[in-house]
Amino acid sequence: MPKTYHIVLLPGDGIGPEVVAETRKTLDALAPLFDLTFDFSEHLIGGIAIDETGSPLPDTTLEACRQADAILLGAVGGPKWSDPTASVRPEQGLLAIRKGLGLYANLRPVKIFPQLITASTLRPDVLQGVDLLVVRELTGGIYFGPRQEGSEEAYDTMLYTRPEVERVVRVAARAAQKRRGKLTSVDKANVLASSRLWRQTVTRLMAEEFPDVVLEHVLVDAMTMHLIRRPGDFDVIVSGNMFGDIITDEAAMLAGSMGMLPSASLGDGSRGLYEPIHGSAPDIAGQGIANPLATILSAAMMLRHSLGEEAAARALEAAVERALDAGYRTPDLAHTAQPDQSVEIVGTKAMGEIVRGYLTPP
Ligand code: NAD
Repeated sequence: MPKTYHIVLLPGDGIGPEVVAETRKTLDALAPLFDLTFDFSEHLIGGIAIDETGSPLPDTTLEACRQADAILLGAVGGPKWSDPTASVRPEQGLLAIRKGLGLYANLRPVKIFPQLITASTLRPDVLQGVDLLVVRELTGGIYFGPRQEGSEEAYDTMLYTRPEVERVVRVAARAAQKRRGKLTSVDKANVLASSRLWRQTVTRLMAEEFPDVVLEHVLVDAMTMHLIRRPGDFDVIVSGNMFGDIITDEAAMLAGSMGMLPSASLGDGSRGLYEPIHGSAPDIAGQGIANPLATILSAAMMLRHSLGEEAAARALEAAVERALDAGYRTPDLAHTAQPDQSVEIVGTKAMGEIVRGYLTPP
């Protein structure tokens, strides 16, 4: 009997539906090779959900997500809903789903594909071998602390509790155990009280529960320098919400292309939300040229973290690598041709088809 997994698809806006459709087809092609069945259901989120229901996250969507083994999201937002003074905005759907499902840890792996090393603005010798994972706390810290906004005075509060720090650090430390066994914790403990609690908590927890993982503490300002000077030295990086927000964008630029980077948001238990880090790319939506690889790689993270199907995850990642090795590129990667390589530019559907052609059974 094949194992059946219930997956909620949230295509969303812009290129979201295009990249999610290719990923769905790719998972369907992968399933029989690993004796799996995927039971997909599609639901509304973001701008399209506002248009159809008035809410960026309808109750039916949240309820379906609660029943699912995992959730795969495309992207939300676009010019049609971009009025910052509007009371209902697509991005509220993202915040609400993270909160509603208790997804407190955001995982963003950054791996430099050798085939795409020239996509970055950094020198190839700096990027050689970069393979890191940033774990960002997602539901606490200064984005959620008490605040007041006036015309003469305003404040935000960076508030962390010990359990909030512990749970996200456990996610990061477990990931480090499965990778190269190194954890870098990022804070601003020389200035902020909340960072000193963060640092003490990390030090104690790691000594008690993860003595096999090598721990270092780095101040966030220094981290922004180290990330572009010696990115290859890092394995897993863990940080609070705001510092993580900044570091993850910097880390994404190491890879040079938005179209290649996946992410996962996890809470307690195995259910998670998986999505490409890019947005809805309204400038190219509907043209059939969006790069589906970040979403396909997000599905690989889903297989690994929520479904425990490591072999299937690797098969998907290997198929993406083979497509790149063979010289296939969507237009966003057109400039990454190596001098000795011929490159063929393909659209969203063709790229999906090519990746499926490279899937192999275990
Ligand atoms: P974006 O990531 O949508 O696009 C930035 C640039 O990268 C664009 O030129 C776009 O064409 C390109 N790009 C992005 N993904 C690509 C892909 N898969 N293939 C090829 N090219 C790709 O960021 P933006 O333009 O700042 O935002 C557009 C909309 O997306 C906004 O409404 C924003 O709020 C929203 N957004 C949503 C999310 C999300 O859903 N998680 C994240 C970021 C931005």
